[in-house]
Amino acid sequence: MWKIKKSVLESIVQAAQNTHPNEFIALLGGNLKKQIVEEWVILPSIFGSHHASIRMDLLPYTACTVGSVHSHPGFTNKPSGADKHLFSKEGEIHLIICLPFSFQTIQAYSTKGTPLEFEVIS
Ligand SMILES: [Zn+2]
Repeated sequence: MWKIKKSVLESIVQAAQNTHPNEFIALLGGNLKKQIVEEWVILPSIFGSHHASIRMDLLPYTACTVGSVHSHPGFTNKPSGADKHLFSKEGEIHLIICLPFSFQTIQAYSTKGTPLEFEVIS
């Protein structure tokens, strides 16, 4: 099972709140082998009111990128078709957070868009 640092989840909640009603998107960094998410890499240039997308050419640390996270400014954290396409391209764990932004509204998905369980670590 994937493990995600509590501090990463806290900053995701914060970023989602700060960016609302726009979406935010960031990359998750960590260790693929150990299945740990330890940090996130935010890409400020892709904040916007349109559906968030990742500019792969802006990726600073592809070696330790394990997935992505983005917010939905609505009440569903189900991945859209575009989300699933993105999931299949990069990383192995993808988080979506929806309203009301909290730990409870963060859902993790696999590359195929199926829900994943994760453990919160400190
Ligand atoms: Zn989405």
